[in-house]
Amino acid sequence: MSETSKSILVVEDNALNMKLIRAVLRFSGHEILEASDGESAIDIARAQAPDLILMDVQLPRMSGLEAVEVLKDDPTTNAIPVVAMTAYALRGDREKILESGCDGYVSKPIDTRTLPGVLAEYLGVDSDGPPSR
Ligand code: MN
Repeated sequence: MSETSKSILVVEDNALNMKLIRAVLRFSGHEILEASDGESAIDIARAQAPDLILMDVQLPRMSGLEAVEVLKDDPTTNAIPVVAMTAYALRGDREKILESGCDGYVSKPIDTRTLPGVLAEYLGVDSDGPPSR
């Protein structure tokens, strides 16, 4: 693996979105771990210690933000950067996302051209994905 290749846990309950995100991040050279609900996201994060978590906010049963609160409360996972994915862009929702412990967020629908570069900032690596313009 190159030094810019990282493991990213993608938490997304929509199969089509998951497929798209997986393709984009693999193209950037990252290893992708996948979960479709908050509880399995927590289990995978604890067991595999990914370099970053890309967390859908709207998930079945436990919400993405509830899962982030658990992860940020656990010393084995609280240093992992979490970027939320949300369809909401209202100020109150952004505040709720950051209060839950997320390090940042991206808006849905996901912009596949800019996603690798945005995540690279949280990973502390240079993006080796395609140029965004
Ligand atoms: Mn969802």
